[in-house]
Amino acid sequence: MDVTKIFGSNVFNTDVMQNRLPKDTYKAFQKTLVGGLPLAPEVADVVANAMKDWAIEKGATHYTHWFQPLTGSTAEKHDSFISPTMNGGVVMEFSGKQLIQGEPDASSFPSGGLRATFEARGYTAWDCTSPAFLKEDGAGNVTLCIPTAFCSYNGEALDKKTPLLRSMEAVSKQAMRVLRAVGNTTAKRVYATVGPEQEYFLVDKKLYAERLDLICTGRTLFGAPAPKGQEMEDHYFGPIKDRVSEFMKNLDIELWKMGITSKTKHNEVAPSQFEMAPIFATTNIAADHNQLVMETMQKVALRHGLACLLHEKPYAGVNGSGKHNNWSLSTDDGQNLLEPGSTPHENGQFILFLTALIMAVDRHADLLRAAAANSGNDHRLGANEAPPAIISIFMGNELTGILNTVASGKRSKGTDSSFVRVGVDTLPPLPRDNSDRNRTSPFAFTGNKFEFRMVASSASVSGPNVVLNTIAAEALDEIATRLEKAKDLHREATAIVREAIKKHGRVIYNGNNYSDEWVQEAEKRGLPNISSTVEALEAISNPKAIKLFNKYKVLSAKEVRSRHEIYLEQYAKQINIEALTTLDMARTLYVPAVINYISDLAGSVCVVSDVGGSATVQRTLLDKATALLESAHAKIDCLDSALEKARTTKGLKKQAMWYRDEVCMRMSKLRADIDALEMLVPRSLWPVPTYADMLFKL
Ligand code: ADP
Ligand code: MG
Repeated sequence: MDVTKIFGSNVFNTDVMQNRLPKDTYKAFQKTLVGGLPLAPEVADVVANAMKDWAIEKGATHYTHWFQPLTGSTAEKHDSFISPTMNGGVVMEFSGKQLIQGEPDASSFPSGGLRATFEARGYTAWDCTSPAFLKEDGAGNVTLCIPTAFCSYNGEALDKKTPLLRSMEAVSKQAMRVLRAVGNTTAKRVYATVGPEQEYFLVDKKLYAERLDLICTGRTLFGAPAPKGQEMEDHYFGPIKDRVSEFMKNLDIELWKMGITSKTKHNEVAPSQFEMAPIFATTNIAADHNQLVMETMQKVALRHGLACLLHEKPYAGVNGSGKHNNWSLSTDDGQNLLEPGSTPHENGQFILFLTALIMAVDRHADLLRAAAANSGNDHRLGANEAPPAIISIFMGNELTGILNTVASGKRSKGTDSSFVRVGVDTLPPLPRDNSDRNRTSPFAFTGNKFEFRMVASSASVSGPNVVLNTIAAEALDEIATRLEKAKDLHREATAIVREAIKKHGRVIYNGNNYSDEWVQEAEKRGLPNISSTVEALEAISNPKAIKLFNKYKVLSAKEVRSRHEIYLEQYAKQINIEALTTLDMARTLYVPAVINYISDLAGSVCVVSDVGGSATVQRTLLDKATALLESAHAKIDCLDSALEKARTTKGLKKQAMWYRDEVCMRMSKLRADIDALEMLVPRSLWPVPTYADMLFKL
């Protein structure tokens, strides 16, 4: 296998363009890319035609504007290239207009009241910073996919990509101001970069098909723990089994073809849990690619008789899945702004960018928390497997010390007191892979980037990065404004760091975030601890957030409110589906199975008694099973009535709260009875695969 040949073979990338476009067109296109200008119609026509020819040579018959509605997944409507001729035949056509803009019927996508159903039209517009690519499916179809943004008729964002692109502009602009203020004259743009590590589970497809809960909700709603969990610590980084390895191999090939830099694969902590990580890219490409990664994982898994579970908590009692969102800022000339440098100047600059992040994260901890909120993550955040719901930054003792030194304004011996000097005097060469890495922190500095570890495994990474880019932009804006006005740059830079540490240093915590001490300590420090999605989402549309998103033109107040509404609604719908699935399984699978068992026992009691035996064991089991069955049955009714009430509750937030407090609670109570019965009823009578089946039989 020649990976260099496979990689990017399905991407209309710079190389392909250079080969296939007339020189002028290529130049004009590159100019629009760098300058962020609109594409001229005549350029678009030529690009579209070249793209179509290339796609057809590779077997494509259709194209689609590929976009990311607020469902969190992707959307595509396929149109063939055919255009009828006078003679009753067809030719294959694709115009610049078709490339640049589409008008899908948007009425069935969530809009949070932004678009009235009578004005169903939405627009998709090509994001030419993300290259077009070909998607192949198992049936042999090849489709040209054009990454697009999706907006309403009035230009309001209905998708995940639009605000992400806007936030990238915002952070670039403000970071550039800081760079100019400290004397950088060469950089033209700053890119937010992201490398999302994706965790997932695999399960045998046959077993998956027997679990209505996995099919409908992505997680097991019932299931007694297997005798073995993850306590032997033997799965993490363990040897990869052949069946899984075959899947991973084909996954890599599919991803490489689409230009996705799949780099790392390994076994994760929980049994049958795995991870894949790409090499980082600019935020919007990373976000597009992560969507493709999730989609391709599921597709390839099926080809191998497997189902891929992306849910945050597929199984109780073992670790769930997250997504580590590695984030940094990079100049167009390749300088990582969160990389400690080797010169005093670079170090001074590095400390300023680090400071910006401290300010940003402390000010908007609630927004970051909201960006990681979904019903699946409610099972993880704060449970001792994932970072707690409290946002804090791990900086490492070394860097914390340096920041404190700068903040204290103490001069090191033999040097002047200038900020830059402090940088060089006290900044030891930091090892890239900081060995005292803290794995429990939700937001960790890992040598040359920040790792936001709370992100939900099934969610798009756009939301979290919209927040990161925008809050960073705000802090950098403030820093730039001060530096631009400063008479003495070094003095002002030192003052900025000092004030930031004083005001926002509370957000730095280098200890064990899983400990109870931290929860208490965080409370003392006044850090928010927001335990559930419904409350967390409040932060999206509070006045502070609206002001922020509005100021940096990332989302208007209307757009922000629509998102809040959509996410609340999604939460309520998800819990509703979970509850309906719980009721369905309990009524049609578990209760009948237990009744069968009880009949067997009763039969045995009769038979044994007839011959004079006491049948005490059978009687004991009969009593136990009957008691649990009665209890479970009562809880079915109890859940049913809670659902009824949920459906009729007015007000989105109130309804979501009811789902969280009552419906979820009654679901777990019912589960407890059924799980207890699972430990009692003969395996041969149990109607669904067990945890041991699903977790250990790959
Ligand atoms: P781990 O955190 O598992 O030890 P690494 O630190 O090697 O692994 O990288 C994790 C992820 O961080 C990878 O996807 C990598 O591409 C990404 N990454 C590395 N540098 C940057 C950066 N400057 N910006 C964004 N992501 C980065
Ligand atoms: Mg990592």
